[in-house]
Amino acid sequence: MSMYNANKKGFYGKFGGAYIPELLHNNVEELRLTYLDILGSDEFKTDFDGLLKDYVGRPTPLYLAQNLSEQYQTNIYLKREDLTHTGAHKINNTIGQILVAKKLGKKRIIAETGAGQHGVATATVCALMGLECIVYMGEIDIQRQAPNVARMKMLGATVVPATSGSKTLKDATNEAIRDWINHPHDTHYIIGSVVGPHPYPDMVARLQSVISQEMRLQLKQKTGSETPTAIIACVGGGSNAAGAFYHFLEDENVQLIACEASGMGVDSGKTAATSFVGTEGVLHGSKSLLMQTKDGQVVEPYSISAGLDYPGIGPMHANLFETKRASFVAVTDKEALDAALELTRLEGIIPALESAHALASLKQLQFKKEDVVVINLSGRGDKDLSTYMKHFEL
Ligand SMILES: *Cc1c(COP(=O)(O)O)cnc(C)c1O
Repeated sequence: MSMYNANKKGFYGKFGGAYIPELLHNNVEELRLTYLDILGSDEFKTDFDGLLKDYVGRPTPLYLAQNLSEQYQTNIYLKREDLTHTGAHKINNTIGQILVAKKLGKKRIIAETGAGQHGVATATVCALMGLECIVYMGEIDIQRQAPNVARMKMLGATVVPATSGSKTLKDATNEAIRDWINHPHDTHYIIGSVVGPHPYPDMVARLQSVISQEMRLQLKQKTGSETPTAIIACVGGGSNAAGAFYHFLEDENVQLIACEASGMGVDSGKTAATSFVGTEGVLHGSKSLLMQTKDGQVVEPYSISAGLDYPGIGPMHANLFETKRASFVAVTDKEALDAALELTRLEGIIPALESAHALASLKQLQFKKEDVVVINLSGRGDKDLSTYMKHFEL
């Protein structure tokens, strides 16, 4: 048994598990008892692989970024999740979960979304499969993310505003959980990252692991070795990082580097760098590291990047932090913006602001000329254009 994967009860070391209200027990239990059989079945594999190939556009390229490599005097490859349908890795997970939902005979899909990226990926697969889609979103986020709200609506989803609390992601999650409790039979809840009660973190990590599965083959072809020196990914909840690390977890010679958004700075009070300022606690159904006050109130996170603006990290990452299997790097808003512009000017690729946090870590790390470094480019920057326009005065 690996020390970096979930055990039968969904624990990664001391993190993980399923801390849920009694009223959710049946929904989560049905999934827990069936997910491994479904994911392992020939039918699922055929459908999943087929859709990843022809609908999502996989395998995504592993691109040797020569200008960036020259800049940092090493060999840098970009795993191009930005080239997937809908523009980010999130579609890998929603394709997988919609197939699980169909197998379980569910007719209704619910999801929560902050910036709207997971909502769009969910609405997309619901349109594809002809299933009803309800997306819970904080009222403030609905105002901030108008283009994604329009996308979801055009795709046929119902976007329901969460009007309690701070009217953001946390409150949308509470509304989604309430919905699930009220619809115990016909509804599947598609969670968008490696968070939530077991089996979600493990299920989402397995669905995203296609990223590192492809990387191994592509590295072998391009460098002669399946294993690189290092893999770098940004961490919000941690799903793109989990997917990029997954098939390298046991290769202890491969450095795993997780980049968190420190916002205005780790000690500024305006940050989302959970591994730096977080403590042990339970958030959204699992034990992990989270940003909280001494008496356990969740602290509002802050990052310029909506996808990293989350007060916790998934339990897999909390364990990778605790065991020191992964190194954690904090990247500020300013550093991420600079890195986004640098990649754009050097390679002609406009990255998502989230992915720019992974790129920015190059300035803090030291690699040798012969090293092979893979950066998971989790998404493209179209959605961040208004932020880029403001900061680069475009
Ligand atoms: C949502 C998002 C993230 C953060 O989510 P993870 O679960 O940590 O991967 C990162 N990059 C992009 C492009 C996203 O849309």
